[in-house]
Amino acid sequence: WRTRLKAGLARTGDRLKEAANVFRAAPKIDEALYESLEGTLLASDVGTAATQRLIDELRRAVKSKRLEEASALEGELRSALTRLLTPLEKPLPDSPPRPWVILLAGVNGAGKTTTIAKLTRLFQSQGKSVLLAAGDTFRAAAREQLMAWGERHGVTVVAQDKGDSAAVIFDAVQSAKAKGIDVVLADTAGRLPTQMHLMEEIRKVKRVIAKADPSAPHETWLVLDANTGQNAVQQVKAFDEALQLTGLIVTKLDGTAKGGALAAIATERPIPVRFIGVGEKADDLRPFVAAEFVEALFS
Ligand code: GDP
Repeated sequence: WRTRLKAGLARTGDRLKEAANVFRAAPKIDEALYESLEGTLLASDVGTAATQRLIDELRRAVKSKRLEEASALEGELRSALTRLLTPLEKPLPDSPPRPWVILLAGVNGAGKTTTIAKLTRLFQSQGKSVLLAAGDTFRAAAREQLMAWGERHGVTVVAQDKGDSAAVIFDAVQSAKAKGIDVVLADTAGRLPTQMHLMEEIRKVKRVIAKADPSAPHETWLVLDANTGQNAVQQVKAFDEALQLTGLIVTKLDGTAKGGALAAIATERPIPVRFIGVGEKADDLRPFVAAEFVEALFS
């Protein structure tokens, strides 16, 4: 999976490697070098705020360590990026409440359904029982896909022919309580942050879940396609404002992803990255480790 992550981050990686080449080729550390680095970071979707922060850190390191060789900056940039991204690491609770209710949101095609399959596999491998709530009531196909998947893998799926998303998920939480299920994964329809009525609908889902269990949902995660690039921050902000997110799952980092966007998120809306998706298969889900991620960006 590391190879896949590395290959996927190639686009950003190439640009950042370009930065490394700039460092290697440059005779000395000067303003032209910082300018060139700024351009490289911006082209890697790092965003203006994070770019500024990284460059400020490099300037400080150069001063305090009296660095003269431009080649020393590559290591400094890696460390600065790792420091920037580390706050996005946040372990999940060791003994979550039961049922542990996780609400998943995201735009269409971000990878929610795939991620639900991956999370189910992960939690089952930890010996936890899982119940799925087919809360995407807009697309009948989504419900059927989830039901078929659940049947194949022996996972209970709570669905309704009619009934809105809130009703289905409410039911699922009640059912999980009655059955002593460990984890409820609640799917929801894909939506754009600009679709106000749909954003209101998912807020309602959250309110209704709390009626089934006042402490739920315990987690509200945005499934975010890594290819969203620069717009990722806007998306995270909009979903966070509507739902008070407790985590992100960043998918498709094995594709032509723009991994630099995580630096922008870390600076502008630091929601923990619970997992990253590095492929389409059920075990292509990894915890987010900043140092590993930076390593993959540069190699
Ligand atoms: P949803 O509309 O949010 O439920 O998205 P889906 O789960 O249906 O995923 C949309 C597409 O993205 C599918 O073709 C998935 O196989 C693909 N996909 C999801 N996660 C990943 C990932 O981490 N890597 C890759 N390469 N593809 C992914």
